[in-house]
Amino acid sequence: MAVALLVAAGSGERLGADRPKAFVVLAGRPMLEWSVEALRAAGVAEIVVALPPGRSPPPGCVGVPGGATRSASVRNALRAASGGEDVIVHDAARPLVTPAHFTAALVALESADAAIAAAPMTDTVKEAGEDRRVTATLDRSRLWAIQTPQAFRRHALESALAVDDAVLAAATDDAWLVERAGGTVRVVESTPENFKVTTAHDLRVAELLLCERRRG
Ligand code: C5P
Repeated sequence: MAVALLVAAGSGERLGADRPKAFVVLAGRPMLEWSVEALRAAGVAEIVVALPPGRSPPPGCVGVPGGATRSASVRNALRAASGGEDVIVHDAARPLVTPAHFTAALVALESADAAIAAAPMTDTVKEAGEDRRVTATLDRSRLWAIQTPQAFRRHALESALAVDDAVLAAATDDAWLVERAGGTVRVVESTPENFKVTTAHDLRVAELLLCERRRG
């Protein structure tokens, strides 16, 4: 069975809330509990949560202190995880995740070291210099917007995370650490609905969608 690492230790400064982002109440419960419910519905029993100072984990989950960066929080949580050949990493800031996202990532992991949720790009992406002059237009058909969940073979994640803190700090997702270690990473098609709550606008949209789902 897979073990899940739920990273919830960020401060969420861009949200401007009165508490860490994962603990903001969303459609009647703290944001991180939506992900815990989806994980349990996918059959994942062991959940380790990386927490901000002074916070407790949801009932039935193991809590560990978060790190200075997101990947440091993942590393702390992985050390506390007991069982499982497969490891799922998920951002508490993506409360719209469904059980199907977790199971799809685990199925794709059968032929890779990492399998990561991703939505096809719908916007055109260009590169521009500091002077805002466009230098390239990327081929959209090959681009994916990366999300979590990200599923890993445990040994691949452990060795990818065994790097110094500067490399860890440069990682915006853990799959990049596996890529740079030479591992095979596959994208698993997801939907834009599994977005990350970053701004007050995102929080309102998430609230509406989760209320709708609950009425469902
Ligand atoms: O800051 P951002 O929203 O990109 O963070 C993504 C996820 O990583 C969030 O769920 C946040 O709580 C978590 N995080 C963490 N430890 C940090 C920074 C972020 O667990 N040091």
